[in-house]
Parts: sequence; C-alpha cells; structure tokens
Amino acid sequence: MRILVANDDGIHSPGIAALARVASRFGKVRVVAPDIEQSSASHAITAARPLTYRSATYIPGIESWRVNGTPADCVALGVHHWDHVDVVLSGINQGVNLGNAIWHSGTLAAAKQATLFGIRGFAFSAPSVDADGKDPDYDALAPHVERVLDVLLTDRRARLVNVNFPLAPRGITWTRQAVRHYDGRVVPSKDPMGHEHFWFTVAPIEQVEPGTDLWAMQRGYISMTPLSLDLTDQQALNRLTAAQPLDGPPVEEATEAVMEDEPG
Ligand code: MN
Repeated sequence: MRILVANDDGIHSPGIAALARVASRFGKVRVVAPDIEQSSASHAITAARPLTYRSATYIPGIESWRVNGTPADCVALGVHHWDHVDVVLSGINQGVNLGNAIWHSGTLAAAKQATLFGIRGFAFSAPSVDADGKDPDYDALAPHVERVLDVLLTDRRARLVNVNFPLAPRGITWTRQAVRHYDGRVVPSKDPMGHEHFWFTVAPIEQVEPGTDLWAMQRGYISMTPLSLDLTDQQALNRLTAAQPLDGPPVEEATEAVMEDEPG
C-alpha cells in the first residue's frame, strides 16, 4: 500500500513525524509537506508562481519532501510524482479541527485534495496543548492512530474522513460535523505602539449537540466524521426549482452537450 502523508503545520511538525511512523506499519510511506506552516490555508492552491520541492531528512527512515506551497499543492505534487497512491493521510495537526472550523483547515484540504483525485483521504488532528499547557507528545497517540488506520484502511466505504483525537482517548466513535454554531470571533486589541489591531480567533463552543464531533471530543472519544465534497443543498435546490422553474435547458439536452465535449 502506497501512503502519501501531508499536513498544514509544515515538514518540521512533530505531528507529521508521529503519523508517518505509524503509517509505515501499514505500507510504503512518502511524506510531502509544506516547507513552512500553512495552518488555516484551507484549500488554496498556488496558481501564480511555480512550485518547487526539496528532499528533507527530518523524519529518520522515511522518504520526505518539502514543498514551497500549500497542503493541497503538496498532495497534487505528491500524487503527480508517485503512481498509484492508495491513500493520503494528513496531520497529525497541532490543533483540533471540529465543527465549522474545518472550513479553514489546511489539514482537511490535503485529504479533500486526495478525494478530488479519486484517492481516499483521512485528516488527523489533536489538541495543540496538553492539560498543563505543554506541547503534547503525539507519538503517545500511536496505538490509537494505529487502531483508527485499522478501521479506515480496511473499509473501502471510508472515503474522506475527519478524525480528531483527544490526548487520552477513551474509545472511538462515528460522528457528524457540528454545524449549529461557529467558533470564529474577531477580538480587538492594541499593538505596543497603541495602534488598534484584530485577532480573528476561536471562541470555545459550550452547547453541543449529541452525536457531533465536538460532543464526542468533549467526552474523550476519538471522533471520526465521514465527509462529502458535494456542497449542493438538495432541499433548497428542490424548493427553488419548484418555486421558480426559470428557463432550462431541458435535462436531456444538457446531457448530450456534456457527452459531445468529452474527448474520444
Ligand atoms: Mn495546522
């Protein structure tokens, strides 16, 4: 099995080293990651300048490359240079990706980019600090990462999955994304010269719905949320089409036009 590992924290992150080490128990691992941190880069691609990559040696025994681009760029370049990648793993992100936060996540974007190429993609995230405010030891999560990979890699129904780990997991559970509340908030402050500036930051969400990713994590469970890339609001589409049929074209005509455009 060919396993491409990417992230958004950059090639030096302890999280990507921990993930690559566990992944290497399941197949051949190649790490392709941004050369600098790209957290909150979401699904950006580098379109206005060329991409380059260099060999990296930060993770002993695992072939690694650093790219001057975004998480999505890394997956594109990695898939371009390695035939028949079976799965893309992203993370372990230093910081959870729960609820609507996943819209901003570069960690998720790497897994989503895999899905766009028809490859399975799994995103892994964990808290950025432990209970004492210290850097967590991501290698300590290894048995849990291994169990998650056992579940996801062996079941082809798992296509795009967002996985979040508490630092001391009590178990694993399937969840849905918490979408009722948004934790993004602009906080005004002043710089040392007295000028006003702003942090677009995260405020903890306290009321959570049962069955969601936030709910599971608050209870100490590893949260696994299967995601879909189809953003169509089918209910709204049905209602709008019924209320305002507009002009067409008839569906048969549209299908023919698409087929004519396809090569050979
Ligand atoms: Mn990150």
